[in-house]
Amino acid sequence: MDLKDKICIVTGAASGIGKAIAGRFVAAGGRVAIADLKLEAAEAVARELTAKGPGKAMGIAMDVTDEAQVNAGVSEVAAAWGGVDVLVSNAGIQIVHPITEFPFGDWKKLLSIHLDGAFLTSKACIPQMEKRGGGSIIFMGSVHSKEASPLKSAYVTAKHGLLGLARVIAKEEGPKAIRANVICPGFVKTPLVEKQIPEQAQALGISEKEVVERVMLGETVDKEFTTVEDVAEVAFVFAAFPTAALTGQSLNVSHGWNMS
Ligand code: NAD
Repeated sequence: MDLKDKICIVTGAASGIGKAIAGRFVAAGGRVAIADLKLEAAEAVARELTAKGPGKAMGIAMDVTDEAQVNAGVSEVAAAWGGVDVLVSNAGIQIVHPITEFPFGDWKKLLSIHLDGAFLTSKACIPQMEKRGGGSIIFMGSVHSKEASPLKSAYVTAKHGLLGLARVIAKEEGPKAIRANVICPGFVKTPLVEKQIPEQAQALGISEKEVVERVMLGETVDKEFTTVEDVAEVAFVFAAFPTAALTGQSLNVSHGWNMS
């Protein structure tokens, strides 16, 4: 399997997991749009990945919660390269509070980035995929698509929601050879997680070491973090898989934290 000349869009690709996925796709020969909030950051990553090849990358500015920006970004990629074959809806944030103290504005912001972002980017990319005779949509879920943790009401709700959206797209678009799947990583050391360690320590009244050992890795089989490379490899398989045998699925990449 490879992604030679496949046209891919990865949201939130200026950092962390998204950047690793974009790198894996370029290494597999893909043409990859790095979609993120700031154009300069997206372009810097695109230059870095293009230099490694053999595929290439371009940077686009896109706030995934803004319909006009999503549509403009997808149109820009389609005009430059001729359509879209693969979408990875990956952009995301984390906000933790006990539910009784969760500001409604934070709740709406988090749901909008994860759920509106997945909906808007899918809606914009599907017609481009139909024109190309099919495609692959990948949502960045989480073990929190299947598990709950204290303080994460908005995140757990959003990540559960992505399973439903992927399954509907898999059924609606299956006849047009468009697949939709969800990757469910355990904790991966990215800026998103580094920020949570002191926040959770304070909210739960425990040390940062205990947050890592008990809260983040306590249920894994080997007390190891999942890596961005682990997640990128699974994204590659979902992107390049040749048939609709693999659609409507969610795959945990979590060192055994969740096995459902
Ligand atoms: P990260 O903070 O390293 O990267 C997130 C990227 O998303 C950033 O580049 C940011 O600018 C971008 N972004 C944020 N809001 C955006 C918006 N409105 N429009 C476009 N881009 C936006 O985080 P990460 O850990 O790489 O997380 C990526 C995804 O993986 C998220 O959906 C996250 O929920 C999911 N995830 C992360 C972990 C983990 O442990 N790190 C585990 C499971 C799932």
